[in-house]
Amino acid sequence: MDETGTARMISFVIPLLNEQDSLQPLYEAITRAVVLLPPCYQAYESLFIDDGSTDRSPAILRDLHDCDPCHVRVIQFRRNFGKTPAMTAGFARARGEVVVTMDADLQDDPAELPKLLAKLDEGYDLVGAWRTNRNDPLSKRLPSKIANFTISRVTGLKLRDLNCGFKVYRREVTRDLKLYGELHRFVPVLAHWKGYRTTEVP
Ligand code: UDP
Ligand code: MG
Repeated sequence: MDETGTARMISFVIPLLNEQDSLQPLYEAITRAVVLLPPCYQAYESLFIDDGSTDRSPAILRDLHDCDPCHVRVIQFRRNFGKTPAMTAGFARARGEVVVTMDADLQDDPAELPKLLAKLDEGYDLVGAWRTNRNDPLSKRLPSKIANFTISRVTGLKLRDLNCGFKVYRREVTRDLKLYGELHRFVPVLAHWKGYRTTEVP
């Protein structure tokens, strides 16, 4: 329960493009993770935004929805618009007071959620995860290290892993941000500029 004693709903917002192999495992990981959350968080929904996949992702999502219609919602794009529009569509439809963004490629482990939620309870509005052992090649890690360093320097916001998709937000933040282009990468910076309290946990 929150300070007023009411339960809070979590909306998982999951943009995806051609992730047919990870959707079922991801769905199962979320289902396992929510059971272990504090009682105030037992209500949840997973919003999968299919960003124009050409593989079996749309069919798999339909099956997940048919099997678990209370928890699985699917937004289907007609073509690939990009991760930012997919996240924006999810943010607009999320019903939970707490919004969790995750990538669909199993890089983010929903079992880490309690740590991020604990930070919200400390009063933060946006909590990101930074990846301690990143399963990416150096060709992805190096540019991302340089970007994190530069952005931290320019904005004064000390963050280690801007591009990690795993974040929890108070809903106000997701409704307040106007995202376009590739701005999903800069969500913590935009939120910080708007005066929201932003932090990161490993
Ligand atoms: N994604 C998407 N639309 C795109 C590209 C990617 O919805 O046009 C999804 C992708 O399926 C994944 C997330 O966005 O769930 C992050 O994508 P990716 O793993 O390629 O990014 P990275 O981990 O390199 O930041
Ligand atoms: Mg990824």
